[in-house]
Amino acid sequence: IPVPQLLRRPADIIGRADNAGHPNIPLPRDLYGPSRKNSRGIEFGERAALEQLVSAIAAAPLPATGSIADATESEANAAILAARNGFRHWARTPAETRAAALEKAADLLERRAPNFVALLQREGGKTLDDSISEVREAVDFCRYYAARGRELFGEGKAMPGPTGESNMLCLRGRGVFIAISPWNFPLAIFLGQVTAALMAGNAVVAKPAEQTPLIAAEAVRLLHEAGVPTSALHLVASDGRIGGVLVAHPDIAGVVFTGSTEVARTINRALAAKDGPIVPLIAETGGINAMIVDATALPEQVADDVVTSAFRSAGQRCSALRLLYLQDDVADRMIEMIAGAARELVIGDPADPATHVGPVIDAEAKQRLDAHIERMKKEAKVHFAGHAPQGNYVAPHIFELSDAGRLTEEVFGPVLHVVRYRADRLDQVLHAVEGSGYGLTLGIHSRIDDTVEDVIDAVQVGNIYVNRNMIGAVVGVQPFGGHGLSGTGPKAGGPHYLARFATEQTVTINT
Ligand code: NAP
Repeated sequence: IPVPQLLRRPADIIGRADNAGHPNIPLPRDLYGPSRKNSRGIEFGERAALEQLVSAIAAAPLPATGSIADATESEANAAILAARNGFRHWARTPAETRAAALEKAADLLERRAPNFVALLQREGGKTLDDSISEVREAVDFCRYYAARGRELFGEGKAMPGPTGESNMLCLRGRGVFIAISPWNFPLAIFLGQVTAALMAGNAVVAKPAEQTPLIAAEAVRLLHEAGVPTSALHLVASDGRIGGVLVAHPDIAGVVFTGSTEVARTINRALAAKDGPIVPLIAETGGINAMIVDATALPEQVADDVVTSAFRSAGQRCSALRLLYLQDDVADRMIEMIAGAARELVIGDPADPATHVGPVIDAEAKQRLDAHIERMKKEAKVHFAGHAPQGNYVAPHIFELSDAGRLTEEVFGPVLHVVRYRADRLDQVLHAVEGSGYGLTLGIHSRIDDTVEDVIDAVQVGNIYVNRNMIGAVVGVQPFGGHGLSGTGPKAGGPHYLARFATEQTVTINT
């Protein structure tokens, strides 16, 4: 059944990941993880594995078009009722079985990597290295939550029994969790949310972004095949209005949301307005992420890390750099080097392995970004304006603002804003970072340990990166999530994340 919003997009970018007997092709590890050098790290990848992957993608059996039915309000409500029934069985399924299903899903994902990479490129407009990294991240989420889940949800924890009673503390699923995800990591964030909620023993109704439902549908199919009962996991593909219907339902036990601060607020208000039990919200939202560069920083490394942080994924990462604070005595030189590095970026077809910057997600996003760029051209100094091809492309831009207060909202694209600061006024910079109310990522480039420590002490930011780029948090290594306007605080890919999806129960037995 064709869906109106899918028809807004060119048919040939919509595909279907059907694994018709692909060999198990290893993902090139070097493109992902702490050893990765930069966004153009494709040169650093394992060549042979990469070439094998690229030819498998070219051969991926993807029909030209695909579509998915838009769920109606009554179907959304029916999914919640079905999930309630599914919860009874899934909550009693041993943690070991739940973990084994997640691990099987990871195996299947690895085996079908070429199809998912192709789908991420076609439906999500992602470049090759972004798509590979995303599949790898999705695999890591499945394996990491399986391992953590075994520890947390296996045996209960025996507590002291000073009065001769036995005391046991257990973690249990809450019930039906609604998982609402964005389009910018349509596989990794979608699966991260869903697998965390499932591992904790919840049934899940998942609503992906309206731009990327096919990737979500394939991910759900894969989890069902891996052993998650169809009754415990439901996909409701539609727009934000149906997201609102799910959130307002009286029988839900929790919501995990990743997306904009504005929608997180809407959901929070809707949950607060409901009668009945208080429903927890796990929200992971956006930021006006800053990087502070002082005069001791290494210029070449700064240029590379700034370009990666601001322009990789066409700036469509929640962690991306938006506001660069440059110490004034080195600012001109740094800007020149950053603009030089930005000039080398290849903007174009995400299927071409040489591409660094692919399209933005849709025409609406392009219009929004173009309007911001036009405004900046009038209000700020233009240091760099790249050239974009026809289509939904936005070229990287670098603008200098007279003060950081002029940037009040997240600009979700390849636009970097620069502000100069005086060496003796770092406190003003820290005040401005704190004053923004956001707290997702922060970069520092300095070789002075005291400066680095002072900055870390002064700011409430979820993820701080020192003398490196500020994107690409690794599951189980760099737990990710922000504070304040950037989220409710849980760290995806961290050791405490699963507990947020659970309730705790203490059983005391008078022996
Ligand atoms: P969005 O517009 O907030 O949408 C996110 C999800 O919420 C979509 O599935 C959307 O459905 C749904 N939605 C919209 N209105 C709703 C409502 N009233 N009730 C329930 N659900 C509703 O965000 P986006 O444009 O997809 O993603 C970009 C944003 O996500 C950026 O702000 C970025 O910083 C943030 N993000 C944060 C993280 C993190 O970990 N902190 C990670 C990735 C992205 P529709 O698609 O149908 O509108």
